[in-house]
Amino acid sequence: MKHPENDPKYVGISVNKGVAQPPTVNPYLKRRPKGVKRTVDEYVEGILSGDRVILSQAVTLVESSLPSHFEKAQAIIEKCLPHAGNSIRVGITGVPGAGKSTSIDTFGMHLLEKGHQLAVLAIDPSSELSKGSILGDKTRMERLSNEPNAFIRPSPSAGSLGGVARKTRETIVLCEAAGFDYVFVETVGVGQSETAVHSMVDFFLLIQLAGTGDELQGIKRGIMEMADGIVINKADGDNIPKAKMAQRHYSNALHLFPLPESGWSPEVLTYSGYYGLGIVEVWDMVHRYIDFVKQNGYFTRKRKEQSKYWMFETINERLRGSFYNDPEIARLLVQLEEEVLQSRKSSFVAAREALDTYFARHSFPKK
Ligand code: GDP
Repeated sequence: MKHPENDPKYVGISVNKGVAQPPTVNPYLKRRPKGVKRTVDEYVEGILSGDRVILSQAVTLVESSLPSHFEKAQAIIEKCLPHAGNSIRVGITGVPGAGKSTSIDTFGMHLLEKGHQLAVLAIDPSSELSKGSILGDKTRMERLSNEPNAFIRPSPSAGSLGGVARKTRETIVLCEAAGFDYVFVETVGVGQSETAVHSMVDFFLLIQLAGTGDELQGIKRGIMEMADGIVINKADGDNIPKAKMAQRHYSNALHLFPLPESGWSPEVLTYSGYYGLGIVEVWDMVHRYIDFVKQNGYFTRKRKEQSKYWMFETINERLRGSFYNDPEIARLLVQLEEEVLQSRKSSFVAAREALDTYFARHSFPKK
């Protein structure tokens, strides 16, 4: 090739013919555009065929606060509903440190070994404040998170408890349509989220620890009343006698409660999530309960009641959202709040004024 640097005086240097520059934009990118926009039917088809990626994306739509996503998510849920309902839904609660994630990992592996598919969801209304959920976190369930037959999803983070719970409830529908036959809903046993979880599961499991003998004091009666089973975790090593004692305390306490509507007397068991002791017994209890309530009709009755409950919850949540997110109402409320604080208006007059303004803005007749 003719080039000044190819002159014989430059020994050891030669310039070769170059190759054409490739284009700066990868032409193949066109074939897989970013943020694939699937149609409702494509989502539904993907979910029904058990495609985990599409299921995940559909859950993201359910969790989104964009109105267009909301519409699409509702359409997907509607089409998945006829394929849903075929799982055993188990709510799992316990204070931080009780061993929820360790237990869910162990319980989950037990179910997968029997050929089941498990979805683990969570409700953690505090996650928005703590910037990221500690519940349903994959790193807390080491074995399960590597299993193709397990689907782990942390708590939806945005909004009120009602909103968060509704999204989890809708996610259950999608997971069931995708073929998961066990759904765990995890929550922290410290607030009101147990009521929300209780209203979407078939079996409510309360994880407790053996304490110093006064373990019953710290736990709210309401949570114990909701439980279909109480399990004392960490019954291993030196802790076994204490766990057995706690078991007796809880059993005695439960005997003082009236028989629940299900007709099932809640049982108290001890186990060790970490060492995998007593796991078979825990699941034997859950299955005996399910058989029992399926036979006496409570299973179906409770699910119907739950559907009704979620209809009203959804209405309440949307009405509340529509009211409080109205910018004029928000401005008016600041002013009314001040007037009530300064005793210039009564609470009732102020509330009425806010509601009348809202009804007028949305062209409802005044009431
Ligand atoms: P969570 O906050 O309820 O999810 O509780 P974790 O599962 O994170 O457990 C809290 C701590 O208790 C961790 O250090 C676990 O290793 C420990 N732990 C959990 N289950 C058991 C158990 O069965 N036996 C013992 N000895 N420790 C356990």
